Amino acid sequence: RQEIVRVALGGRSYDIIIGDGLLQRAGDYIAEIAPGAACAIITDENVARLHLPTVEQSLKDAGLRATTIIVPPGEASKSLSVYGRVCDDVLAARIERRDLIVALGGGVVGDLAGFVAASVRRGSRFVQIPTTLLSQVDSSVGGKTGINSRHGKNLIGAFHQPALVLADVDSLRTLPLREFRAGYAEVVKYGLIGDARFFDWLDADSDAVFHSQAEQICAVAVSCETKATIVARDETEQGERALLNFGHTFGHAFERLTGYDSARLVHGEGVAIGMACAARFSVRRGLCAEAAAERVERHLKGVGLPTKIHDIPGWRDDAQAILDAMYQDKKVERGALTFILLRGIGQAFIAKSVDANEVLGFLKDE
Ligand code: NAD
Ligand code: ZN
Repeated sequence: RQEIVRVALGGRSYDIIIGDGLLQRAGDYIAEIAPGAACAIITDENVARLHLPTVEQSLKDAGLRATTIIVPPGEASKSLSVYGRVCDDVLAARIERRDLIVALGGGVVGDLAGFVAASVRRGSRFVQIPTTLLSQVDSSVGGKTGINSRHGKNLIGAFHQPALVLADVDSLRTLPLREFRAGYAEVVKYGLIGDARFFDWLDADSDAVFHSQAEQICAVAVSCETKATIVARDETEQGERALLNFGHTFGHAFERLTGYDSARLVHGEGVAIGMACAARFSVRRGLCAEAAAERVERHLKGVGLPTKIHDIPGWRDDAQAILDAMYQDKKVERGALTFILLRGIGQAFIAKSVDANEVLGFLKDE
């Protein structure tokens, strides 16, 4: 089984191929768009151990020359120093503009390798092979690439669209359950913001996506399609794209207050709690039926995701600290807080100028 999602952005388009056995056939797909090209595969140590040999062999079989650049796993690799080293390694491998940079790994590798591709020789072609559920459903659409600065996350970067994305659900078999769940939170988000039938489908058998590859292919395809549609309608990030931030105004604040310590909270867990908070806040404001918010919470809990602020290990911060952290988010405008709220499942909307005291009152009761 295979699904193809065509993404058209910035006047260019590319395919996201979603299926199984794609790592083994990567060479064929790449040779098709860049026959005889040299490839620089950028990956991290974990993914190198698990999946690199398959991809290297496949490129070799397709007659492509490949060099591999391995970085340490984790967010710390989205740094200027690692970026500098990888750029130099790519140039040392004599990768020309028409050659290819291949990002093999999760969102960290995708963002780093994408930014290397955006800047080496003022823009080189790149192929993404996302190996986490999060990177398959989120980073493979939108063309955002970049690294972190000591002043904050993702502050140095560029828009650079890939030439091709290969999302192989086989790679998800080796993904730790906690990472899978974190990516799944973003899958649920796509249902909640605009596709009640998709949420119904997930909710009818919440275990299915965790165990069946056919359901994974379908869930990744619907997620990519939803994100691609929203991003294409709003490339300049003026309006509708904000819907993708559902659960994130709360979630980012929790991540900030836990010091981005992945032992306590990973992004998708913050988003899960954030979505449950946004649903409960919608009920409190009289916008959404209580039963809908309860359903959201039950679903997330059912797959093992946290839904309450106090689910965060060692949580000690108060409502005011959360509000302050929200104001530090680069996506939050001072004074007027903007939230993505729900009128029901699949009916998210942008609520501008939400009163800070109302948020504070809600958070105190959480
Ligand atoms: P990640 O890349 O750090 O991967 C998580 C962990 O899983 C790492 O330890 C990694 O080595 C390991 N791993 C990856 N694939 C594996 C596999 N198949 N089997 C076993 N282990 C595997 O994290 P992530 O959650 O994929 O991505 C998070 C990053 O993505 C953040 O930096 C975030 O800013 C970025 N992001 C970017 C976009 C975008 O649009 N560009 C969107 C969302 C997130
Ligand atoms: Zn997210």
